[in-house]
Amino acid sequence: MVLLDGKLLSDNIKSELAAEVDILRERGGKIPHLAAVLVGENPASQVYVNSKIKSCEQVGFKSTMIRRPAETTEAELLEIVQGLNNDPDVDGFIVQLPLPKHINEEKITLAIDHRKDVDGFHPVNFGRMAQGLPAFLPATPYGIIEMLRRYNIETAGKHCVVVGRSNIVGTPISILLSRKGYPGDCTVTLTHSRTRDLPGEVRRADIVVAAIGIPNFIQGDWVKEGAVVIDVGINRIEDESRKSGTRLVGDVDFEAVAPKCSHITPVPGGVGLMTVTALLMNTLKACRKEVYA
Ligand code: NAD
Repeated sequence: MVLLDGKLLSDNIKSELAAEVDILRERGGKIPHLAAVLVGENPASQVYVNSKIKSCEQVGFKSTMIRRPAETTEAELLEIVQGLNNDPDVDGFIVQLPLPKHINEEKITLAIDHRKDVDGFHPVNFGRMAQGLPAFLPATPYGIIEMLRRYNIETAGKHCVVVGRSNIVGTPISILLSRKGYPGDCTVTLTHSRTRDLPGEVRRADIVVAAIGIPNFIQGDWVKEGAVVIDVGINRIEDESRKSGTRLVGDVDFEAVAPKCSHITPVPGGVGLMTVTALLMNTLKACRKEVYA
């Protein structure tokens, strides 16, 4: 069994990005600039945004953090989005989700200029991705694709079962893996909460992508020998043996599933780290105008 090491891969990619920044600096080119908007005090969101800003610093990107209180109105947030859309120095930006309930997330996502949408959530980017046109890929699926590529995992003709159909993970990764090319050319089954006989579907998979949000959901006897398992889940559970009283686990019962796999991602240390790195890759693309001229 090979552990798909998200830490090692993201460290490698970050070194490559840092080298690109050095070249840009030597040539007097523009340094990539990512801005992040955080509204409210959601602890998980704070951790995610801080890690995005810290990663920018690690690779030498410029970063801007915009923090606003939970009472911020939708109009105020739209104004911030417009400001970032119009700021020529900002190559890409994200508005961290979830937003407070009184703000319409769809309205905010649509207000972001798709040419700066490095999260890849705007329908223009989603539609272009689905058609195989240049697009900012959503960060988590992009991170998974990059992981499969860098570990040379064979995908052509493989049966991939994706569990979970969210707009940010399950649906886009099912599209990407079914498209022509590498990694891709899979036969994909997209499963969800209304799927009949989910264990039976997962048992047929050469590649399993689990993005459900339920701790240890995918069981050992659901997974076929030699399967590749990508665990996207990040769930905090109680653990009295830890000083903090909690620990992170994925959507896959790692202890039971890992011995059967050819490859598996750990949680933490797998897809999560690749997600942040993918955001940096998108920001560099935005700066270089590789997706939109
Ligand atoms: P979501 O809540 O938006 O979607 C969950 C999906 O799981 C839904 O499509 C639903 O149909 C499906 N589902 C729920 N219960 C099910 C069941 N009993 N059987 C089959 N399917 C079921 O979740 P999401 O945003 O895609 O996130 C999924 C998990 O991935 C979460 O743990 C989240 O924290 C994690 N996540 C990790 C990263 C990362 O960077 N690693 C990024 C995004 C999300």
